[in-house]
Amino acid sequence: MRQKLSPEDNRRAWLWAALIVLMMLVLGAGIFLLANHDWSPTPSLPEADAALLEASQGLDSIRITADLDPISQVLTVTQDMTLRNRTGQAQSAVVLRSWTGAYLSEDTSPVATDELYYECYGAAFNPGGLTLSRTRVEGMPVIWRWLDDAQTVLSLPATWDAEDEVSVTLEYTVLIPDCASRFGYADGVFMLGNVFPVPAVWEGGAWRTDAYASIGDPFMSECANWQVTLTVPEGFTAAASAYAEPIDANGQRRYDFTAQAMRDFALVISDRFTAAQGMAGDTLVTAWARRKSDAQAMLKYARQALESYGSRWGAYAYPAFTLAESIFPYGGMEYPGLVMIAADAIAYGSDTLEYTVAHEAAHQWWSVMVGSDSYNQPWQDESLCEYALMDYIGDVYGASARAGAAFDRIETSLRITIPRGVTPGSPIDYFADLTEYSQVVYQRGAALWMALETHLDKDALDALLRDYQSQYRFRNATREDLTQLISQHSGQDMSGLMIDYLDTYMQ
Ligand SMILES: [Zn+2]
Repeated sequence: MRQKLSPEDNRRAWLWAALIVLMMLVLGAGIFLLANHDWSPTPSLPEADAALLEASQGLDSIRITADLDPISQVLTVTQDMTLRNRTGQAQSAVVLRSWTGAYLSEDTSPVATDELYYECYGAAFNPGGLTLSRTRVEGMPVIWRWLDDAQTVLSLPATWDAEDEVSVTLEYTVLIPDCASRFGYADGVFMLGNVFPVPAVWEGGAWRTDAYASIGDPFMSECANWQVTLTVPEGFTAAASAYAEPIDANGQRRYDFTAQAMRDFALVISDRFTAAQGMAGDTLVTAWARRKSDAQAMLKYARQALESYGSRWGAYAYPAFTLAESIFPYGGMEYPGLVMIAADAIAYGSDTLEYTVAHEAAHQWWSVMVGSDSYNQPWQDESLCEYALMDYIGDVYGASARAGAAFDRIETSLRITIPRGVTPGSPIDYFADLTEYSQVVYQRGAALWMALETHLDKDALDALLRDYQSQYRFRNATREDLTQLISQHSGQDMSGLMIDYLDTYMQ
């Protein structure tokens, strides 16, 4: 029999019940907040580490003041450089590589090709490029000369003895064409790759003067110390090879970037970007895209990639790594400290975006930190970045996913018929189109690394690549340098195996 409750008891029971429900709600909310809180440290730009400071000692310095007018699509630049003559002989000229001049004419533009024209220019060609207004050497005005029709090789007269330093000043404007490319403007995004002239590379008694090929990355350069002051209208954001917090005043936004021991300095600027930011070890990672969720996906994959590669080959060298959505018909494009990721790859999402980010992040080790001849030996960085993707997939998704990707991408490429006599070791100007280039250089090229993995075993190959990083970081490694290192780690001459995989034509 139940005892009848008094009204007082009834009220107390209700109060208790309400209290218990309230406590459960508070507890639930607490657990939810704890589970979803990001416990990683607040993202911030770390100081350059001791190894980077040491690498920066004695390098050329490049100081830039640049101002973007997004309405007229003009970047106005003053560029001061202090350059040392490292050629071992007296020179009568300072030779620089400047790449955007090629976009001035349809005859020389690297993207005015059958394959790329429509995707880059749409219906009509739009010219852009660099126009010099003044040049000085040691403070004295000098007359410049372009040594090629595409205006990519710039020569300034100078009396320049071996090991002497010379100061060079360039004043110029860069007209940014309507062009969906690594250099151009499209859909609210300014892609500014290779806009600043860099010292030419001296090799074998001559300056490198490779043409601006349509396929691959025809750029080679040495590391220098960059200081870039950029002004854009307020509301615009600059993703760059280095990271800086902007200062807003009087309707202008100013960035002061410092980039030590870097081969180049690139920018992607937009008034439509939103950021996602986090740390990967000691590196500040920032992803810029037009949609927040895309920036977050790019950030996630970039952090995973930096952690995977850093633990295998040695730490990423620079304080910041930045990704920026770009409008062009390539999946991605690497620059020191900055990678451009195609809006198309972002739109496809899933594997396409993830693998693009992982490939471009691997370039920070292979082509950015360890430089190589990306014109004559493009396999040296591209095949390694394709192979790196296998490691990324293995680290994130496990061994069977890695084996599946190696079959789909690398083994399959060996079975495809390649109609002409191109091999992974061919120079970039041998290839007919981007598909042939990536199947042969990236995927067939990566078969070399899979073979070495079997020959040496995986740990020994990782040790070899760590050694390659530490010996050639901030320098350029030749094919012979790498072949020698592979032979040394194998305990036998491996040049025959390299020729089999790189120079032997397989249909
Ligand atoms: Zn690549």
